[in-house]
Amino acid sequence: MIFGAHESIAGGVFNAVESGHQATCDTIQMFNKSNNQWRAKKLPADEIDRFFEAIETTGVTVATSHTSYLINIASPDMALNEKSYKSLKEEMERCETLKIPNLVMHPGAHVGSGEETGMKAIASNINRLFSELKDNHVTLLLEATSGQGTVLGSRFEQLAYMIDLIEDKEHIGVCLDTCHIFAAGYPLIDPKDYRKTIKDFDDIVGLDRLRIIHVNDSLREFASGKDRHEHIGKGHIGLDGFRNLVNDRRLKKVPMILETPKGEDLAEDIENLRVLRSLLSK
Ligand SMILES: [Zn+2]
Ligand SMILES: [Zn+2]
Repeated sequence: MIFGAHESIAGGVFNAVESGHQATCDTIQMFNKSNNQWRAKKLPADEIDRFFEAIETTGVTVATSHTSYLINIASPDMALNEKSYKSLKEEMERCETLKIPNLVMHPGAHVGSGEETGMKAIASNINRLFSELKDNHVTLLLEATSGQGTVLGSRFEQLAYMIDLIEDKEHIGVCLDTCHIFAAGYPLIDPKDYRKTIKDFDDIVGLDRLRIIHVNDSLREFASGKDRHEHIGKGHIGLDGFRNLVNDRRLKKVPMILETPKGEDLAEDIENLRVLRSLLSK
């Protein structure tokens, strides 16, 4: 199995790779720009060089990037929608520059316009995006959400509905987050329940669309609808749920990435990765 964590790009994008190495990651996820700002300065050539060098020397790969939390391509506010679209397009271009194969995005929130209107807005923005980025190789991944507020993508049917409306299916995929789907009401703990959850996903969306898994335990209880990440084994999913996941051979090639809280020394990442690997049956 391929294990990793989300690492910080503070001080330069190469630092995420270095941190991943320090934290015993096989692979990492990173932002490609500051995640709480619209604007981003162009990546300087020497920073890009150092990024590729870090990958080469550490052997740590970059499985995916994650978009800014500001982006909402489902927004009924046309100014915000357009700003989101432009920002998403810029992130796709930055991933291409950095040769990052995937970009994870929360599908968006309809903010009162209704589920169907929201999902149609998402799909039409993605159709425009792919038509304007013909030479881009990045796969955009819709992340399954916990269903908080008017956020879309908490049901597998919603993910399938959006994908169905996207014309260029080569460049669209899905990211599952254990905390989000558990909070959205998909059970993971009992092996029978786990198998049913994955079968539902396979039937409705298709396992071939699954490119990244975020491995986060859930601070809040099953079906709470709340998105609060907890360290592996310390939340309501617990070790049994993660044991099902890491021993599922169908997921061998799907990077499993932590998005759990941590300090400067990355001790929590090191411990969470140790716990995940310890669950693998010999
Ligand atoms: Zn996530
Ligand atoms: Zn989350």
